[in-house]
Amino acid sequence: MKKILIVDDQKGVRRLLEELFKKDGWEVQLAADGKEAVERANEFLPDIVLMDMKMPNMNGLEASRIILNSFSDLDIIMMTAYGEMNVVKEALDAGVKKCITKPFDIINLRDTVNQMAAGKVS
Ligand SMILES: [Mg+2]
Repeated sequence: MKKILIVDDQKGVRRLLEELFKKDGWEVQLAADGKEAVERANEFLPDIVLMDMKMPNMNGLEASRIILNSFSDLDIIMMTAYGEMNVVKEALDAGVKKCITKPFDIINLRDTVNQMAAGKVS
């Protein structure tokens, strides 16, 4: 079973995405901030990480850098706010595979994740 780690400080977003990906047959784990994301990634060894950018304790960029330092070929999709173009560039430079802008279309997001899992998005 494919494993996805969903990281967002908003409970509503975590719940929504958890439900969506469970329905699609993914094994799902959740994290509420960057620090938790690093811990979960190390134990859960996900195929894909959906990473919010703005979070308390440790933001998504910092967490992505740490995770990619251990798992360099892990697929991370970052969720940024509209207008954070500098963050998008930094994230892609750090090895994040794709950035999507919040608020996102949930069906597009699901398609992107499934395509990435199938190796169709690089
Ligand atoms: Mg946030």
